[in-house]
Amino acid sequence: MEKVVIIGSGPAGYTAALYASRANLNPLLIDGPQPGGQLTTTTEVENFPGFPEGIQGPQLMENMKQQAARFGTRYKTGFVTKVDFSRRPFRLWVDEKEEVQAETVIISTGASAKYGGVPREMEMVGHGVSACATCDGFFFKNQDIAVVGGGDSAMEEANFLTKFGKNVTLIHRREDFRASKIMLERAKANPKIHWMTNAVVTELVGEKELKGVKVKNLKTGEEKIHPFTGLFFAIGHNPNTKLFKGQLDMDEVGYLKLPTPPRTMTNIPGVFAAGDVADHYYRQAVSAAGMGCMAAIEAERWLSEHE
Ligand code: NAP
Repeated sequence: MEKVVIIGSGPAGYTAALYASRANLNPLLIDGPQPGGQLTTTTEVENFPGFPEGIQGPQLMENMKQQAARFGTRYKTGFVTKVDFSRRPFRLWVDEKEEVQAETVIISTGASAKYGGVPREMEMVGHGVSACATCDGFFFKNQDIAVVGGGDSAMEEANFLTKFGKNVTLIHRREDFRASKIMLERAKANPKIHWMTNAVVTELVGEKELKGVKVKNLKTGEEKIHPFTGLFFAIGHNPNTKLFKGQLDMDEVGYLKLPTPPRTMTNIPGVFAAGDVADHYYRQAVSAAGMGCMAAIEAERWLSEHE
């Protein structure tokens, strides 16, 4: 019987593990399909406090992992494929066969940014292609940047990127925008933002670094290469919550609902959630780490009240 099982290994999961292990709870962390989480796909992280010179994303995650291991966190490689939260102890199955029982569970399975499905886009992440303006915008000073999307995120990211880029071109596949009126108007009022509607990205130009982007006009069929050296997808995120459907409350997109914020307890007492899996608003490594800390403290208090 485990006191605390943590599912997921991004900043939220590792920070929960650090706090739970320092509280002598001997947590078990199951790392999931992308050990280290989204930050392992970025290069330099400059906005995580404590690293004045910045730090590489994969290194930051390795540091967090080692820090939690120092206090007794145990790591298990594998996917949680099934859970049963209907009664206590909670039950989890790793890779479909191995059953783990837990008094408390902290879910930190994160969210995955959606990319556009353009050939070679994943190879070019960190080399001109990104899905996070807050993380990577700074690297595109004075460059021609494109943002794909037509929702609030695209408007917000395009506005943010005008602080760095020479120009920002918003590429949207339709004429109408899903974005709220106020966000759209704010973007329209920004003279550094240019607009390409009825347009989709079809090709990335450049071997190692992005040198240009081929865009197809869906009305005329015309394709043209534009000299964008930064391409940001802002077409939404998918929270990694399929596993919990029918057991935990979630919003219409699938983000876990926390009924008593800022507490991290889900609708099932003893099951907590931290990081992007329950946060579509901030989505930062540092805010996820903060929630991981909160979840571990709550789990520890919950255990001492119920033991
Ligand atoms: P969203 O509202 O779902 O918008 C996604 C956009 O991406 C849509 O315009 C969609 O086009 C486009 N898209 C989807 N798949 C695509 C693909 N494969 N290729 C090209 N374009 C594609 O997502 P979001 O903008 O991330 O917003 C998510 C939620 O967070 C929303 O509720 C939003 O209001 C909220 N949010 C709020 C703020 C704020 O208030 N400050 C900021 C950001 C987000 P179509 O329109 O054609 O489907």
